[in-house]
Amino acid sequence: MTTTPVVAIDGPAGSGKSTIAKLLAERLNWSFLDTGAMYRAVTALALRQGIEPQDTLAIAAVAANARIETIPFISINDLDVTIEIRQPAVNHAVSIIAANPMVRAAMVERQREWSVRQPVGTVVEGRDIGTVVFPDALLKVFLTASVEERSRRRGDETAASIQRRDDIDSNRDHSPLRADAGAVVIDTTDKDIASVIEEIVQCLNLR
Ligand code: C5P
Repeated sequence: MTTTPVVAIDGPAGSGKSTIAKLLAERLNWSFLDTGAMYRAVTALALRQGIEPQDTLAIAAVAANARIETIPFISINDLDVTIEIRQPAVNHAVSIIAANPMVRAAMVERQREWSVRQPVGTVVEGRDIGTVVFPDALLKVFLTASVEERSRRRGDETAASIQRRDDIDSNRDHSPLRADAGAVVIDTTDKDIASVIEEIVQCLNLR
């Protein structure tokens, strides 16, 4: 599927994915892709356009036609949504929109296209990276943490909102959040960032 080496990092909200994936990419000098930001950007644009998250066809059209950039800022159709995508309205709607298989197909295609264009390797984080987007990833990591710890880390989002997103993400029909059989599962509850990165680098060195 891709010749660029990929480290796939999946897990629920607040498991440490973004921080760890970003720092790991810096350490390896590889590029980094936050796929959650892509689903959030589609959601922000749909909300701006007054489209109901449940309107699957209208949302699919937004996703299919959107130009999304995640570096250095998150933008969709040249609109900077870096701040907007972290707002409660987006937190509330994003998992409904991400459950739409047409939206997923459009995002997965972009993620794969992006990855093959990267010069060295990529660290990609999300919910379905090891299971669906890059089943041949060089290394698959699934991060977990207790609900209490995850809501503490996500200071800007309530525990109820995180729990609701995790429930929708884990129980959807298409590409639900789950650890791939080949993934290294790391519980980050009582671990600091540096030690988790060290653990991942060691796994990578064994490949
Ligand atoms: O990672 P983040 O919390 O920003 O992701 C926001 C939402 O985007 C998730 O709750 C999930 O619904 C969706 N998502 C997804 N698949 C991905 C990444 C994110 O469904 N690969």
